[in-house]
Amino acid sequence: MPHTIAFVPRPAGPRRAPAAAGADGLLAAISAPLPALRAPPRARSHMLRSRDSGVSPLAYDDVMADLDSFISGLPKAELHVHHVGSASPRIVAELAARHPDSTVPADAAALADFFTFRDFAHFIEIYLSVVDLVRDPEDVRLLTYEIARDMARQNIRYAELTVTPYSSTSRGIPDRAFLDALEDARRGAESELGVALRWCFDIPGEAGLAAAEETARIAVDVGCEGLVAFGLGGPEMGVPRGQFKPYFDRALAAGLRSVPHAGETTGPQTVWDAVTELRAERIGHGTSAAQDPKLLGHLAEAGIPLEICPTSNVATKAVPSLDEHPLRRIVDAGVLVALGSDDPPMFGTDLNTEYAVAARLLGLDEAGVAALAKNSVAASFMEPAAKAALTAEIDAYLAAWPAAATAPGAPRPATPPAL
Ligand SMILES: [Zn+2]
Repeated sequence: MPHTIAFVPRPAGPRRAPAAAGADGLLAAISAPLPALRAPPRARSHMLRSRDSGVSPLAYDDVMADLDSFISGLPKAELHVHHVGSASPRIVAELAARHPDSTVPADAAALADFFTFRDFAHFIEIYLSVVDLVRDPEDVRLLTYEIARDMARQNIRYAELTVTPYSSTSRGIPDRAFLDALEDARRGAESELGVALRWCFDIPGEAGLAAAEETARIAVDVGCEGLVAFGLGGPEMGVPRGQFKPYFDRALAAGLRSVPHAGETTGPQTVWDAVTELRAERIGHGTSAAQDPKLLGHLAEAGIPLEICPTSNVATKAVPSLDEHPLRRIVDAGVLVALGSDDPPMFGTDLNTEYAVAARLLGLDEAGVAALAKNSVAASFMEPAAKAALTAEIDAYLAAWPAAATAPGAPRPATPPAL
């Protein structure tokens, strides 16, 4: 594809350590470098105001650093993240070491170069190279468990991971063995890492109806305990949502929830189609819904959340820049937003970074960020008791947060009344 992608460069050093660790203490081990954030104009305007009121820009930076620390330790749920797309260089190195015949490098320096993206075609090339490294059930188990380890380091407590079984079964991994490997990793992640994983099995739209049939068969006829949702990914252009209606009907009849991607690379009509034809209960991306006030009103009214992944949206050119991201318009319309990271290492991001981006775009303080985190819990398919427990944990974390950042004179972004 001809697009040139503005991938966020990686910084030279590690980010500041989080101020609070989760119950499992894993956060203390954070040392991996994370992508640098560009401050959008909204944040800069705060800085200008702070200078007008006699507060130095340094104080503003301190406040933002405190917000980054707050985000790092905040208990979170991640609802839009892809299985293979979550393979970090560390995980890819482990997989490549298991398959020395692969073209993917296994040493750190060569991998850093491998993960330096040039454009969208290169992204696809990397993605398919990682797909090719997942060849047997042990690869599936290792990939999944190690993704959970990366999540634990961000204090992600619950994730609905989008998995594409067709990619693996069409490469010869038996369906039952594939699901057993996922489930083995899920049980280990929950008991050893404190991360509850659930699955959304998605149809790779570009692979057509045969892939849809296979995905529905695995989801409905084989199935596994952690499976909660049914999705649709891949390109939208030339892949009408409505053709997948029979497969979504089957999945919904079996008790799964409908979470198709829509309105990322095409207009609001695709979101309408996802809602009316596929009975979407959440929408993957849906950024183009912001172009249609009637659709935004419907999503707000019907309680259909959008999974918004700002950095991914810029990388894929779904939106021209972070400054022009419609997040504010979507939130102001009363649509529930669940922040996601999509394919985090491939887009040079992670969920913490997405929270920092959203905080700057929306002008949020710690309470606003906590409200955003609670939105994701509300938009999830967790059991009610689990929702209540994670929500209470977020509230307790906010209540216990040191008040140092609210010292007199420190510029405070406003907390929106409702998110
Ligand atoms: Zn996605």
